[in-house]
Amino acid sequence: MAMKMLVLGEVKDNELRNVTFEAIAAAKTVADGGEVVGVLFGENLQQHAEKMVHYGADRVITAEKEELSQYTTDAYQQALLQVCDVENPEGIIMGHTSSGKDLAPRIAAKLDCGLVTDAVTVEIEDGQSVFTRPIYSGKAFEKKVMENGRIFATVRPNNIAPLEEDTSKTGDISSMNVDIKDLRSIVKDVVKKSSGGVDLSEAKIIVAGGRGVKSAEGFQPLEELAEVLGAAVGASRGACDAEYCDYALQIGQTGKVVTPDLYIAAGISGAIQHLAGMSNSKVIVAINKDPEAPIFEVADYGIVGDLFDVIPKLTEEFKKV
Ligand code: FAD
Repeated sequence: MAMKMLVLGEVKDNELRNVTFEAIAAAKTVADGGEVVGVLFGENLQQHAEKMVHYGADRVITAEKEELSQYTTDAYQQALLQVCDVENPEGIIMGHTSSGKDLAPRIAAKLDCGLVTDAVTVEIEDGQSVFTRPIYSGKAFEKKVMENGRIFATVRPNNIAPLEEDTSKTGDISSMNVDIKDLRSIVKDVVKKSSGGVDLSEAKIIVAGGRGVKSAEGFQPLEELAEVLGAAVGASRGACDAEYCDYALQIGQTGKVVTPDLYIAAGISGAIQHLAGMSNSKVIVAINKDPEAPIFEVADYGIVGDLFDVIPKLTEEFKKV
């Protein structure tokens, strides 16, 4: 059944995040020949709106306002509900990002509809949209359909393939005047902690270090390898707790959930809480000097050895490619 779907795009550091294109692809599947309407909040949105069209949105609504230039729960909730009032969509999709995780349940509650979070695939089966999502820290998957009312889902970054970019595609881009009032909080300043320039949750390659790196300086060989590969640097909680790196790098149950094409785990034992954040990576390479380390059970390739020998050799080899 053809449906009208809204996709909330996400802009970070003046770039449209990839998960926006993945959400459009998911919405296209659910829309089943219906209309996909992109929504963007913030400032200077024209180029981002065009990009949403190039990646498959049929039209885009922008709401430009200073109060929307940084994500806040209050302002985005007010703005998105006003767009929903006008558009009355049959479904909404957004990224399962920090802001998506915060916003989606509030919108679902206000619209009195269900919500599928953290979807990794969506398919049409027997005329229904079927979402697959991981459960039990990624040890199993469940399939969900929404039988009544709106279809509302958040999609995990790096899982649903975006449509191919078509720069010749055109679509209507219109602006909406949303009314933002009585904000209970505003963002004054953003203090950034980076993972080597590449956004960890959207990185295609991650080089992660654990307690085996032994010190903050021990991360240097990993950073050099990451630079050669264009990768982000991540870490286990063991490494963060030992103060070898910042908690912004933590991957796992209580850190970031990542699904890169390649995950290199160096000096990480493979505790269940760490696996919860990375076991769905497409290819996992483990480097550990203990051949019995549990990380080898989920690894596609295992290197038993000292990371301080192995990593520099990998860096040298990749430099030649
Ligand atoms: P260790 O388990 O100490 O492993 C270090 C590994 O390095 C060992 O396997 C060792 O053989 C290897 N090694 C040592 N030296 C070298 C060397 N020179 N070369 C190669 N290998 C070497 N953990 C997370 O990662 N993310 C989470 O989100 C998370 N959430 C948690 C939530 C809860 C509620 C709890 C209870 C725990 C959580 N943990 C989490 C912690 C988790 O249980 C582990 O303690 C942690 O993942 C261990 O980190 P590690 O693998 O770096 O350290």
